Amino acid sequence: MIDVGILGATGAVGQQFIALLSNHPWFRVAWLGASQRSEGKAYHDATSWRLPSPIADEVARLPVRAAAPPGAPRLVFSALDSSVAGEIEAAFAAAGHLVVSNSRNYRMEQTVPLLIPEINADHLALLDAQGADRGWKGRIVTNPNCSTVVLSMALAPLRQFGLAKVMVTTLQAVSGAGYPGVPSWDILGNVIPFIDGEEEKMESETKKILGCLNGQRIDPHPVTVSAQTTRVAVQNGHTESISVAFEHRPPADAIVEALKSFRGRPQELELPSAPASPLVYLSERNRPQPALDVNRGGGMVVSVGRLRPCPVLDYKFVALGHNTIRGAAGAAILNAELMRREGLL
Ligand code: NAP
Repeated sequence: MIDVGILGATGAVGQQFIALLSNHPWFRVAWLGASQRSEGKAYHDATSWRLPSPIADEVARLPVRAAAPPGAPRLVFSALDSSVAGEIEAAFAAAGHLVVSNSRNYRMEQTVPLLIPEINADHLALLDAQGADRGWKGRIVTNPNCSTVVLSMALAPLRQFGLAKVMVTTLQAVSGAGYPGVPSWDILGNVIPFIDGEEEKMESETKKILGCLNGQRIDPHPVTVSAQTTRVAVQNGHTESISVAFEHRPPADAIVEALKSFRGRPQELELPSAPASPLVYLSERNRPQPALDVNRGGGMVVSVGRLRPCPVLDYKFVALGHNTIRGAAGAAILNAELMRREGLL
């Protein structure tokens, strides 16, 4: 077993790490870090546990440490608030740790992989250049923003048809804003048409993820993405309404077949967190829905449905993914599993 630490262990994503890592075949939670508010407390006293599965006893008793490298294991997952993640993750990387991060701070750096292992496992090669570029003994690997994961997963199999333009409108769950997140007064019976920085992240991160490794950098995919993001009164699961224009407009059944048959390196390697099929296509007229479909494949599957012609672009469809699992903790764990199988841990 490999000991792992979790930075930001007390937050919404931190809790999801702990839940997903209980009984993990390779990784054992051995160290927890958070802010001064939590430091020194036992984990179960430091966090307001929000998940249906109980906290494993051995983790509940672990003390929460300061978010600083001394005493932490070499492999550290980060679910830190982005206002502090930049400095803290850099300190861990400089001290020789492998930081597998959810935060936005390093995602767009030239030598930092922004990974979805089904799509761009080869981008891990950027790590060779990262040491010289940043002067770190350790490394940082990132996963995308939670709504970008859903979009990129749905688009990746469609690259073969020449992705040209994408318009996406999201309906994002409240758990995406952390805990306690959006005040109930603001969200109940309401839609909030603004999530700070989210549209810019979807428009830039997608191009890097779908882009090509070119030596020690990524050439971004030429697709143009226009995103509108909204927060809705859903607990878990980001739903996205997506329209796409192609260079070579395929027939609808070719799109469905491309989605259904999509597989990647995690499936080839049979990584522990990899679903057998990372995308499912639902043929019912009213799916996917967060209440019914968000937990498919343990929250690691992205569900797609409602494919139909678009009178403005070529096709439109709906996609859904679990924001704190495929969009955060599960994504980071899959990244670490890939790194282990690629001999990088
Ligand atoms: P959250 O619930 O607000 O948790 C934030 C965590 O950061 C807590 O553990 C908090 O510790 C810790 N923290 C805050 N200030 C700190 C400081 N000064 N020093 C050390 N630790 C500090 O947020 P979240 O939703 O879990 O998100 C965590 C990260 O993942 C963010 O960067 C977010 O953008 C990203 N993300 C979130 C989602 C999602 O769906 N929620 C999806 C993808 C990515 P205390 O409890 O001690 O304050």
